[in-house]
Amino acid sequence: MIDNLMEKIVSLCKRRGFVFPSSEIYGGLQGFYDFGPLGVEMKNNLKRLWWDWMTKEHSNIVGIDGAIITNPKVWEASGHVKNFVDPLVECKKCHHRFKADDIDGDKCPDCNGHLTEPKIFNILVPTQLGVIEGEKMNTYLRGEACQTIYLNYKNVLNTSRLKIPFGVCQIGKAFRNEVTPGNFLFRQREFEQCDLQWFCHPNEMEKWFEYWKSERMKWFKSIFTHPENLSFYKHEKLAHYAKKAFDVEYAVSPVGKEMEGIHWRGDWDLSRHSEFSGQDLSYTDLEAGEKFIPNIVETSGGVDRMFLFLLLDAYTEEEDRIILKLDPRLTPYKAAVFPLLANKPKLVERAKEIYDNLQKYFSVAWDDRGNIGKRYYSQDEIGTPFCITVDFDSLEDNTVTVRDRDTAKQERIKISDLSDRIKSVL
Ligand code: ATP
Repeated sequence: MIDNLMEKIVSLCKRRGFVFPSSEIYGGLQGFYDFGPLGVEMKNNLKRLWWDWMTKEHSNIVGIDGAIITNPKVWEASGHVKNFVDPLVECKKCHHRFKADDIDGDKCPDCNGHLTEPKIFNILVPTQLGVIEGEKMNTYLRGEACQTIYLNYKNVLNTSRLKIPFGVCQIGKAFRNEVTPGNFLFRQREFEQCDLQWFCHPNEMEKWFEYWKSERMKWFKSIFTHPENLSFYKHEKLAHYAKKAFDVEYAVSPVGKEMEGIHWRGDWDLSRHSEFSGQDLSYTDLEAGEKFIPNIVETSGGVDRMFLFLLLDAYTEEEDRIILKLDPRLTPYKAAVFPLLANKPKLVERAKEIYDNLQKYFSVAWDDRGNIGKRYYSQDEIGTPFCITVDFDSLEDNTVTVRDRDTAKQERIKISDLSDRIKSVL
């Protein structure tokens, strides 16, 4: 493991415009971050990969985009109002707070001071709706994105030709008053989740649970630079409705490891919403003449944790070079275009033409500052797979130098082949 890897990633993210501390000019706000120009490109690429994999590589999955604020009864039915709590201890000396579960003994890990007895905190983020003081409605920002999928399960069924088994997926924000926000993107108070809820017959839970466990791991392995760093963690303590639960972990993370939970939810969610709403949420299988509450396998991932782990995994130091060896499908830019010399108008003009053409189809960077070596370093650090240099020969023979990020090898390529070359790694 590279020394101070986490600090290096935080600094790279700030320096190059991936992630900024939120409301920084006011001193920031703990547990909140903003994605900058490069970060939003990478995050969108990640979300698009996930979405396409879910909805295009699996024929019976559709998506929704649910509201962040729901009727507050949702959170009573889901058990969050009662159970979304963390027992917390506070150091009497330095006032740092810790999850009681994380502490062995009764001393503060930071200053060795005495700790208070555990107190219970509910981590839902409350909010109010309405404009008249005294008549406002108390509700919550959603503590997990998946609830809107359960709420819309009948709407989806009624408006599609889906039959069990089928899935509904969603990417969206969730909010938690985390007791110990920190570790950069790992534990935030506002974050994004990407969930699949897979609805199936109760007799088929075992089969589908194993299927999704294996499918999800395959997907993660296909996007990480070092797939061997991924593993499963098996939960021993299970929710009463769950038969099994596994986390996909980034096993070498210097902070927490959990990236996605694969959960056996059984009929818990639909039964609870049926009970609290008074609506029949059962499924009728006309062919089999059967009526039942579908069971659910959930895969619930954190987009921001994936983003962080992908960066940690891709970060490489080779002599004096920093290289983000990210999968090219994820990188903010797919190529960078340079004129060899910025003060030669013919070179600049030809390079600009190439840049404009590629930019129509790919996200492409332009750089004409400093020397070529510095430009290479700068693109390596943000993961750009190809650097394209336009030189005097280019004006004669319509070829350019293409330099590969990982091998630093350079080759001469026809300008007309550039697009295909980039496509070949996406
Ligand atoms: P943890 O045990 O770390 O608090 P969790 O088990 O409560 O996480 P889930 O409720 O299963 O997490 O949420 C699914 C995913 O959402 C997690 O695997 C994680 O990737 C992401 N996630 C959860 N809490 C946060 C957070 N505070 N900040 C960023 N991502 C989060």
